[in-house]
Amino acid sequence: MIEATLVLIKPDGVMRGLIGEIIKRFEQRGLKIAGLKMVRVDEDFAKQHYIEHVDKDFYKSLEEFITSGPVVAMAIEGVDAVELVRKVVGATEPKSALPGTIRGDYAHVSYAYADKKKISIKNLVHASGNKEDAERELNLWFSIEELHSYPNVHELHTM
Ligand code: GDP
Ligand code: MG
Repeated sequence: MIEATLVLIKPDGVMRGLIGEIIKRFEQRGLKIAGLKMVRVDEDFAKQHYIEHVDKDFYKSLEEFITSGPVVAMAIEGVDAVELVRKVVGATEPKSALPGTIRGDYAHVSYAYADKKKISIKNLVHASGNKEDAERELNLWFSIEELHSYPNVHELHTM
């Protein structure tokens, strides 16, 4: 039941000064940060990360976006963490993301607008879509030595 998942604060979140605000959302929910680093992604790495999207129309703009500045990568652990983190992050399209979610509180643009402008949807965060993706993405982004095991207060007080 305890799962680990990958979260990225994308270049828009880093450049907008929202690193602390975004990390806070996961900490306040009681999730554990097991790994954390800042990385500048190149085109090859972007293709490995977004392997399921490389043939799609929006891929070129997605690659331009994710390589446009550093990202903050996090390994996040908790009970049913993959599904829970997606819920905290909100819907992919900021226009559809509910208030209270990261994307719903800090972005508003629609697919139609982004596609017309030939830009990627700037939605602040990536979160693994399912358990298989989470395992593959964590292996891609983190070495074993970069993932840390430690007790946090939630294991005493909320779990
Ligand atoms: P996510 O798992 O919620 O991030 O969404 P996806 O895996 O479906 O897509 C990956 C990323 O590609 C999204 O977070 C957006 O930044 C971008 N994206 C997805 N769909 C579209 C689209 O239809 N148009 C544009 N412009 N960008 C998109
Ligand atoms: Mg996805």
